[in-house]
Amino acid sequence: MSQRTLVLFKPDAVRRGLIGELLGRIESKAGWTVAALELRTLGEETLEQHYSEHVGKPFYEPLVEFMQSGPSVVLVVEGERVIEGVRALAGPTDPIAAAPGSIRGDFGTIVRENLIHASDSEESAERELKIFFPNFG
Ligand code: GDP
Ligand code: MG
Repeated sequence: MSQRTLVLFKPDAVRRGLIGELLGRIESKAGWTVAALELRTLGEETLEQHYSEHVGKPFYEPLVEFMQSGPSVVLVVEGERVIEGVRALAGPTDPIAAAPGSIRGDFGTIVRENLIHASDSEESAERELKIFFPNFG
């Protein structure tokens, strides 16, 4: 079941020089391919669409501010069960709860600055891919 997912390496990951490390973990999974990749500073409108389910929550404003604090790497990754797979590589939202060996478990401590975003379902992937790559086949 080949899928596509939308992945962000968040501004903390880029600032800390972890692009290569994170990309390596994704690329080394058999059969997964990077289909698009761009360094991009995200704007408020894009983030409001992307995080629409979180608008109004207490963490929303600081999250959007953080996400605008520097460039992110925006990627499309495709391959076998890649939606579930990148979520598993990332680990749970709270890095302290994330197991060592996962990206958030190995590199994170702060819930907001948890290094990576990955679509959480086929529906989310379809929605998010359209937001970040509206012209992508
Ligand atoms: P994800 O799908 O694992 O990225 O998590 P969510 O969709 O629940 O939240 C989106 C992003 O908002 C997370 O990755 C965090 O950066 C941030 N976030 C989520 N929950 C909290 C929270 O309780 N506190 C803070 N400060 N940030 C949060
Ligand atoms: Mg989410």
